[in-house]
Order: sequence, then structure tokens, then C-alpha cells
Amino acid sequence: MTKFLANYHTHHELCRHAEGTTEDYVKEAIRCGFKELGMSDHAYSYLINDYGVRMKPEEFAIYSKDIDDNILKYHDKIKIYKGLEVEFIEDNAEYYKELLKKVEYLVLGQHYISFNIGFSAPISSFALVSKKEIIEYGRMIEKALETKYFTLLAHPDLYMCGYQEWDETAIAVAHQICKAAKKAKIPVEYNANGFRRRKVMTTKGLKRPYPREEFFEIVKEYDLEVIISSDCHVPELLCDEYLLEAVEALEKQGIKRIDYLKIK
Ligand SMILES: [Zn+2]
Ligand SMILES: [Zn+2]
Repeated sequence: MTKFLANYHTHHELCRHAEGTTEDYVKEAIRCGFKELGMSDHAYSYLINDYGVRMKPEEFAIYSKDIDDNILKYHDKIKIYKGLEVEFIEDNAEYYKELLKKVEYLVLGQHYISFNIGFSAPISSFALVSKKEIIEYGRMIEKALETKYFTLLAHPDLYMCGYQEWDETAIAVAHQICKAAKKAKIPVEYNANGFRRRKVMTTKGLKRPYPREEFFEIVKEYDLEVIISSDCHVPELLCDEYLLEAVEALEKQGIKRIDYLKIK
């Protein structure tokens, strides 16, 4: 198996549904033989009030210091980056500029869509069921990638999690996302956390909720840069057997991956 050298989609206990501090992930990364580790916990938000799944604005300082302390402590062992995973919401340039002043990179994780002003009553992207909803997901990803705020597009095919059927609409959304990633020159993620989830029954049989093979066939057509992330919420899962399964599945599909993310 090819060696796995870095992970840029890593969570932290501050989001309240992950375990472990930066040091726990750093120690595990060193044990796994990683050269780089990017911390990218769920960003605080002023518009999405789901504090069960993200840090509060005033908690960012704790997160930031926790990463800084480990950068100092482990500088001769591993390169550590400070990032955040965040949703895109239109007309919030100030918010993204604020985040980009505080961290080195943003991962786009579009966990919600909303049809309302002020992003009220958000709909989970894990549970999109209608054509209208997945079309909106595709539109938001395209808009997000145009902004250049993001360094990595996490789980681009998350919309298939609830929608499941690989039909004309799903294909059109995949093309829209891949075209936008190509234009913005942003790598797409092959998410190992999808391998940890239960498979879903589709008309084509049992499938992983994501990453979907069909989606990555389109990624191949566009010759996009692909990177595998652990998206671990527990330190022990940083380089677990599901990550290895993801590496093998991507190789089997004939898709090359990049080892490192270019972070300015
Ligand atoms: Zn999470
Ligand atoms: Zn994540």
C-alpha cells in the first residue's frame, strides 16, 4: 500500500461530537508516520446555531491556542496547520475574511443548505431527498468555490447521502461541482468517514452513502486533484482500517491522489 503522509480534515473535542485535543491527534499522526497534519474542526458560526456540532465564537481562542502550543512543541516532528471546516453562506464575505485572518486554510464542508433569507431553517446535506434540494446543494458549492475562500472541497458528493439514486439530476449536479472545482483549481476530497458509515439501499443495491463511485468517475473525467481525508472525530481513527480501505478503493478505481495540500 502506498504510504499515507498527511491529513487535513481533522476534528477536535470543541465541536462536541468529536473526542480529543490537538495533541491527541498530533501524537497519533506521528505514530501513523504523517509528515503533515491539518486541524480543521467545525468553525463557529453566527448564522447556524447548532452548537451541538460546532465550537462557540468565544471558544475559537481555546482552539487556536491549543494548535499553536502543539506547533511549538512538535515543530521538529511534524508540520501542523491551523484550519477550520465551514459551510458556505452567501453574502457573508466579512465572516470568511475574519476566519481567514485567524487560520491558514478553510475546508468547505457544506453540511447544510437553506432556501431562506439569513440561512434560517437549514436542511442537513446528509438528508437531501428532492431534486430541488440537491440542485441547490450544487449551486451553493459552485458559488462557494468561486469565492476562493476554500483550499479543499470536503465530501463533494455528500448530497448523495440522502438522495441515493444516481439519476440525471444527480449526474448534472456532479458535473456542476466538478466543473467548478476544475475552474477554481481546488482539490476534491475522497472522504474516509463515508467508509465508516452504514451502507444505504439504492435501486442499484447497497452503496456507501459517500464517497460514491459514480461521482468519482466524473471526477476522473475532469482530471481533478483528489486527496483522501480521514475526517476523523476520534484520534484512533486518524489512520484506521477504513482509511486504508478508502486508499484501496480509490486506487482500484484508477484515480491518482495527491499526498499534500498546498497551503499558503
Ligand atoms: Zn463533524
Ligand atoms: Zn469534517
